[in-house]
Amino acid sequence: MQPASLICNYFIFSFNPFLFTPMSTKENEVTLKKITAHCKEYGFVYGSSEIYDGLSAAYDYGPNGVLLKNNIKEFWWKSMVQMNENIVGLDASIFMHPSTWKASGHVDAFNDPLIDNKDSKKRYRADVLVEDHLAKIEQKINKEITKARKRFGEDFDEAQFISTHPRVVNYREQIQSIENRMKTAIAEDDLESFKNLIVDLEISDPVSGTKNWTDVRQFNLMFSTEMGSVSEGANTIYLRPETAQGIFVNFSNIQKSNRMKPPFGIAQIGKAFRNEIIARQFIFRMREFEQMEMQFFVKPGEEMQWYEHWKLQRMRWHNALGLGTAKYRFHNHLNLAHYANAACDIEFEFPMGFKELEGIHSRTDFDLLAHEALSGKKLRYFDPQENESYVPYVVETSIGLDRMFLAVLSAAYQEEVLEDNSERIVLKLPAALAPSKVAVLPLMNKDGLAEKAQAIFKGLKYDFTAQYDAKDAIGRRYRRQDTVGTPYCITIDHQSLEDDTVTIRERDSMKQERIPITDIARILEENVTLKKLLKSI
Ligand code: ATP
Repeated sequence: MQPASLICNYFIFSFNPFLFTPMSTKENEVTLKKITAHCKEYGFVYGSSEIYDGLSAAYDYGPNGVLLKNNIKEFWWKSMVQMNENIVGLDASIFMHPSTWKASGHVDAFNDPLIDNKDSKKRYRADVLVEDHLAKIEQKINKEITKARKRFGEDFDEAQFISTHPRVVNYREQIQSIENRMKTAIAEDDLESFKNLIVDLEISDPVSGTKNWTDVRQFNLMFSTEMGSVSEGANTIYLRPETAQGIFVNFSNIQKSNRMKPPFGIAQIGKAFRNEIIARQFIFRMREFEQMEMQFFVKPGEEMQWYEHWKLQRMRWHNALGLGTAKYRFHNHLNLAHYANAACDIEFEFPMGFKELEGIHSRTDFDLLAHEALSGKKLRYFDPQENESYVPYVVETSIGLDRMFLAVLSAAYQEEVLEDNSERIVLKLPAALAPSKVAVLPLMNKDGLAEKAQAIFKGLKYDFTAQYDAKDAIGRRYRRQDTVGTPYCITIDHQSLEDDTVTIRERDSMKQERIPITDIARILEENVTLKKLLKSI
């Protein structure tokens, strides 16, 4: 926000004993453990069914969490559907005809290779064990580089060092050879070679420390269940592992009913389910999660131009939130899935490092063709100008809502030391995403202050998520709002009764200014609504 915009023409700073400016951000690392604890304590996210000791990789969003999550969804939805005349929405059902997943390839190939350690009885993804091993070799290379940089100072030529230093060259050759072996094993579905790779690399279980491994097996990530009572003849169906297929099977419905003409998009937000072998890192990897996906249908041959367009557009969406451009990076896929002709991830710097947040894929006509073949129904667009029909190519943007929630929260979480040496935890959330936009606080619960505060609160509620808090000293109340990221606090004091003014406190700077009550809604409107974010994309 622009603090200057808050200054009304006839009031200047009010006296307030709780006006402290942040001195510094504490050097404390923002760890996943801290975020998880904060989420639980302040009603953002709880473990699922905790009273029964929880269910692994399933989470419940509490009162503040659901508000934050809905705001992220709204930002995404509006940026896609409301701001683009050629993108429309869909809410497809989670259960789909089982043939959907046969056509999409999920029944046959949505697998992860898993391996168990016979001593610890722990289960691992075989590819992740190898990737962790590769990361250790990378670390050794980085150590060599750091050492050399110290030794050579300004004269250090990193590229030359990497390509000539014998130890580094050797490490890089090792990495290349391991990657090649793993790629071949995956491509040829050769699980025995995969096991041999783990044995040859002498990878041991981090828990038991032993190398006593089972064979590698393929594990399908789809959850299945049965539809209809058993006597009627049960039918195995799946919980959708991605929302995209609901879009593909509705391609013709939507194209015809809404007279859509490529290039056009279909956007959807919904639950997806994956029986992840190892689900950890809080809401980063869950077994039940939400996706926000948009499939963009284009004329064959135009897909690369649209792929570049959506890469740029999605990064602009992220940057509009102001979490810091350095926290994002593109990661191009070198090994493309058989149906893709280009693919990349937008990675975010989570507390545990850079990880995938969103995927952008050019999926060709693979999905529509596969559904055409299995269903026998045409999934094409008839181009009246060319007098011919074609199967459109697809560019997809796919982001995990829960991962986005974690990204926003971990970037916003700060521990600060104030001028008086006290400390505060503050969530510097983008104002438009904050669970509550404003808190209304009567300085005392007497002399008519509460009544005045209630009247203001009731007026604001129609347009903004607002909180009313009359308990505890005002300083403590400010801190409480900081911990949940409320951008503004409005304090009603005795002067408010005399001249209809209040103090407005801004969360990040903690600056307080006196403004007329009639200005509150305008200030909020200018600073906390999605409009500002949408305009800055
Ligand atoms: P990963 O490599 O991390 O397993 P993925 O490449 O399989 O992810 P996609 O199939 O491209 O993921 O799904 C699109 C997005 O859905 C991901 O970028 C991520 O944000 C989200 N997502 C995927 N799996 C999960 C999960 N288990 N929990 C939470 N979000 C997920």
